[in-house]
Amino acid sequence: MLATGAALEPASDPEALYARVFREMKPRTPVPEIRVQFRRYANANAQIRLYGGVLLVRIADTLAAAPWDVQEALAEILLSKLFRRPVPPNMHDRYRRYLNRSEVRKTLDQVRSLRGRKLVEDPRGTHHDLLQIFDALNFQYFFGLMARPTLGWSRQASRTLLGHYDSTHNTIVLSRILDRAEVPRLAVEYVMYHEMLHVRHPVEHKGARRCVHTRAFKDEETLFTNFREAKLLLRRLA
Ligand SMILES: [Zn+2]
Repeated sequence: MLATGAALEPASDPEALYARVFREMKPRTPVPEIRVQFRRYANANAQIRLYGGVLLVRIADTLAAAPWDVQEALAEILLSKLFRRPVPPNMHDRYRRYLNRSEVRKTLDQVRSLRGRKLVEDPRGTHHDLLQIFDALNFQYFFGLMARPTLGWSRQASRTLLGHYDSTHNTIVLSRILDRAEVPRLAVEYVMYHEMLHVRHPVEHKGARRCVHTRAFKDEETLFTNFREAKLLLRRLA
């Protein structure tokens, strides 16, 4: 996912976080086995249950990118609900403020629309042809060996979510905002290249850690010709 604005950092250790909050709430109860899963929900949903000695937390993957203090607030909210306790007001406020941030709302809207029935529009676009761009980048950077996923322009012109790789549907979607005459091809190529790296580097799960932009990913990203110029162009667009 390539988003402008707030940096999207992967959560570092959600199981440890839930274990800590659990201990604080129930100091005399042994901490159960904890599993935190990020699921492909269409919005900012989360569920928790304790069953058969396992605490299972399912969180929308859109929240995986939330800052750590927000993850903590969500853990307090979910565990309070599980134990039927009042949610600490400061935690509730912190979580709600995050969801109300305009760039977060926009990203959620965009993800919702990307995950609607029809995923993408014609990749040929008005000004930039994603099929052609993909093939050129594939040739230049991947020896022409990358199998082409489904490509398309998004229906809505998002400024905050410029590109997205949906591994479930093996689809690369670029924001329609880039399909404009005044957007240089280099900017479109860079966003496409970034998403192609997501095809190449699947999300890594190191124990409980979920890493989207791995070190290998970032290293390879800098191999893009005119990397800095492309980043500057995108900053100007945002
Ligand atoms: Zn990304």
